[in-house]
Amino acid sequence: MFRDRETGRELCAAHLKDGLEARVRETIRNHSMIRDGDRIAVALSGGKDSTALLLLLHAVLPAKNVSLVAVTVDEGIAGYRDETIGAAVRLAAELGVEHRIVTFSGLFGGTLDAFLRGREARACTVCGILRKKAIAVAAKEAGADRLATGHNLDDEAQSVLMNALRGDLPRLVRESGEETGYFIPRIKPLREIAEKEIAVYLVTQGRWTELPECPYTQSALRAEVRSLLSGFEYRHPGTMKRLIQSREIIRTSIRPGATASPVRRCTNCGDPCSGELCQVCALLPSLRAGDGQRHA
Ligand code: SF4
Ligand code: ZN
Repeated sequence: MFRDRETGRELCAAHLKDGLEARVRETIRNHSMIRDGDRIAVALSGGKDSTALLLLLHAVLPAKNVSLVAVTVDEGIAGYRDETIGAAVRLAAELGVEHRIVTFSGLFGGTLDAFLRGREARACTVCGILRKKAIAVAAKEAGADRLATGHNLDDEAQSVLMNALRGDLPRLVRESGEETGYFIPRIKPLREIAEKEIAVYLVTQGRWTELPECPYTQSALRAEVRSLLSGFEYRHPGTMKRLIQSREIIRTSIRPGATASPVRRCTNCGDPCSGELCQVCALLPSLRAGDGQRHA
């Protein structure tokens, strides 16, 4: 039995599943995330959020003329990625969903572990920049019209707070879908589902698997923000939703274009960026010049 602390409602496993599927359908509809005939790349790391995403999309989309392709990025993180990739491969095969895997080694010439030697404190920044490009490449190669990611309500609330803490207003108000025309538009069908609901859904569907945690997790600001927000949410249910609502209020009250910087093309790879080089092309030479090049 799942008890929602905000509403006080109690749900059995079957009603939780039905309720989540209905809310995902509603989120997709309300935000016009998917069009008839779309090919959707689903970012599948093999972790709990992406597992729930693929299961829920697979359950709610057959009614539409939509095809799914799962895409996985192997960053090269020893003792972590092999297990989650194994889980991703098994899930895609079980559901009969086409699956593609791209690797940092293949795309960038080295594993994340090798690139990070001596700069572990920047792990998630480096990983995030390279992974964003890798997943976009995988989605493009798969011929996808949309890229679905497993970001949930907690992730969204954490991002709002992190961007506020960094003073990054442009990123705070930016919608990933606004990248249409430059990147494949990203959609977040789980953006209104809480992390704990996803966890209970997986447990009650017999889909929960204990997987190792990324060894770099603790170096992230996100880990601190996550812990902080979980405490607030427990003591003051609804905190995360209100935080996300505050972003919407800021977004709608800002003059269109006020925070946007002009989009240029990277002089090296042609990807959209705000300066001479995109973040990947600016970062890779220093990563390769370190231990990364020798050990990749
Ligand atoms: Fe990458 Fe950081 Fe996530 Fe590990 S915790 S997979 S380093 S973003
Ligand atoms: Zn570039």
